[in-house]
Amino acid sequence: MNTVSDLFGTSVFNDSVMKERLPKETYKEFRKALDEGKRLDIDTANVIANAMKDWAVERGATHFTHWFQPMTGVTAEKHDSFISPGSDGSVIMEFSGKELVRGEPDASSFPSGGLRATFEARGYTAWDPTSYAFIKDGVLCIPTAFCSYGGEALDKKTPLLRSMEAINKEALRIVRLFGNTSAKSVKTTVGPEQEYFLIPKELFDERKDLIFTGRTLFGARPPKGQEMEDHYFGAIKPRVQAFMKELNEELWKLGILAKTEHNEVAPAQHELAPIFTTTNIATDHNQLTMEIMQKVAKRHGMVCLLHEKPFAGVNGSGKHNNWSISTDTGINLLEPGETPYDNAQFLLFLVAVIKAVDEYQDLLRISASCAGNDHRLGANEAPPAVVSMFLGEELTEILDAIENDAAYCHKEKVQMKIGVHVIPKFPKDTTDRNRTSPFAFTGNKFEFRMVGSSMSIAEANITLNTAVAKELKEFADELENAADFTGTLHDLIKKTIIEHKKIIFNGNGYNDEWLKEAVENRKLLNLKSTPDCLPYLIKDKNVALFRDFKVFTETELKARYEIMLENYVKTIRIEALTMVDMVNRDILPAISTFTRRLADTAAIKKAVANAESSYETSRLAELSALESSILNAVDVLDESLTAAEENDMQKQAEYYHDSVFVNMQSLRAVVDRAETLTPSDVWPFPSYGELLFGVR
Ligand code: ADP
Ligand code: MG
Repeated sequence: MNTVSDLFGTSVFNDSVMKERLPKETYKEFRKALDEGKRLDIDTANVIANAMKDWAVERGATHFTHWFQPMTGVTAEKHDSFISPGSDGSVIMEFSGKELVRGEPDASSFPSGGLRATFEARGYTAWDPTSYAFIKDGVLCIPTAFCSYGGEALDKKTPLLRSMEAINKEALRIVRLFGNTSAKSVKTTVGPEQEYFLIPKELFDERKDLIFTGRTLFGARPPKGQEMEDHYFGAIKPRVQAFMKELNEELWKLGILAKTEHNEVAPAQHELAPIFTTTNIATDHNQLTMEIMQKVAKRHGMVCLLHEKPFAGVNGSGKHNNWSISTDTGINLLEPGETPYDNAQFLLFLVAVIKAVDEYQDLLRISASCAGNDHRLGANEAPPAVVSMFLGEELTEILDAIENDAAYCHKEKVQMKIGVHVIPKFPKDTTDRNRTSPFAFTGNKFEFRMVGSSMSIAEANITLNTAVAKELKEFADELENAADFTGTLHDLIKKTIIEHKKIIFNGNGYNDEWLKEAVENRKLLNLKSTPDCLPYLIKDKNVALFRDFKVFTETELKARYEIMLENYVKTIRIEALTMVDMVNRDILPAISTFTRRLADTAAIKKAVANAESSYETSRLAELSALESSILNAVDVLDESLTAAEENDMQKQAEYYHDSVFVNMQSLRAVVDRAETLTPSDVWPFPSYGELLFGVR
């Protein structure tokens, strides 16, 4: 039996492998290029490629691929074998520096939002040496960025790397102001907690809705849901335990720090949390984690559902994006620290995040928006659609004291003066204290809870990095020129608190009073759905933000807006078409079969016993009425789909939200009622009860 440390990272071409396998000079060149963000020359790339190939071939790999993250939300790969013809009819295994650093996939079928016309099919992948190469299923995978012929980003990694550069530059300016001369870089770190459902594969295979859309489009409530609260942190079933064990091992081999696993609130729902790492790597790792969860589940006869809302009536799944900023020397800049000087720096970073979240509420909301996540946000379980921040009582009191030049009472009553007083360490809050907050401070990091379980965490972190970079730049501009540093710092922090404290809310985010207060008094945005929030993406202030920090050009941003709209429309359309298909080809015929059975029996009872009313006649009447409602509702839905011809994508998305989606809900209501009156041997799909409690 392998120990974890034997296993860990065995499929990764990581730093220690490179140190061991690369000539000293090459390794030094590589590290230098990495630390200074410089280009590698082709000779060095050739040596690295060759070492990578030898290492991969020894581990049974036959192919390599540039592994990238196009705008589909999943990863893409195209395998090429290492083989090259030898002179004597044999083959040799080859992999060149050129093949390592650049690829040219025919990319015409990836979403580009009009950035790349299909006649200009060429896309380029470029090696991202900051994320290690790894072996997956016998293929050497090279993490790459993906862009068009004109250099526009067509993926999620390129802008993420750009946003990390932006925050690195501005945060370094700030730490220098506080006397730190040793830090060479500042990076953001992320630990994403991933929620998912596991259901029996044989039941999944019987449901077209799960197959085509990842969620159930019909399904009457089972007698039991999550009301007993007996699943959360409950004992893990042996079959799930076996899955988790294998999953952990697969992830560890890939160098992914899978750490915590537990049952979640809904039946069949679970969570996995890794130990945090650099944002770029955390994002790659989260994509891999989702892929491997699905593969491993199949080997255990189960299907892993990553959809945000696979089942109505029980909780959906999210992804908690734990985010912080630290120096390359290991200082967490969101750690309150032990001394006044550290505190002042902490407070400055803290108010930068507060200002960023307030000014870019819309972008954060957008970074968590997709058709699937619309079922969660604001739906009384996940955070509401209004973005606000939880700081906890203690920190809020400190900010109040600074704002009012008042005394802060911790151990003794002291007037808070920046750079003079030590503020206490904050206890890590427990989740039940602030479960409803979309953006919570948790001791030394922030937890952004809006992201959906199926989504890439790239967008959320691109937004956070860039928005905070912008605030830090403003602060640095002011402080670098200040004659009286401490006085200016104090005033800056105080002013920022006053102007942006409206985003801070420590109460219960689910209740209606908060929504009223948030929208009416504080004028916070309440963007309920994807079509509601997407137009904000291309507002002038947001275009300026991304342009100024070189994260997206205006063209790139508009392309993303188009892609997100299109994705929304397509998702709802596929769901609606699936419903129509299920109703017309399975559900109505099943009801018809059963009503005939009822009619036949009723006729016999009438003939034999002259029974006028019976179970059969009563159910027959009820089901016949439902049958005509279903028929009517399915026709209405079908017609609304043909009516949806509109050139303006925004209008089309709104139409799908306001009409098609509403018709889907009406259809579902009558079908679910019919399910409760139809025997299980006739109903064409496994029930919620079987799906949610099927893994035993
Ligand atoms: P909590 O109990 O407050 O949720 P945990 O320590 O369990 O805190 O952390 C939850 C997640 O946050 C984990 O994935 C963890 O790795 C991550 N995390 C902890 N510290 C940081 C940090 N400095 N930056 C980013 N993520 C972090
Ligand atoms: Mg947590």
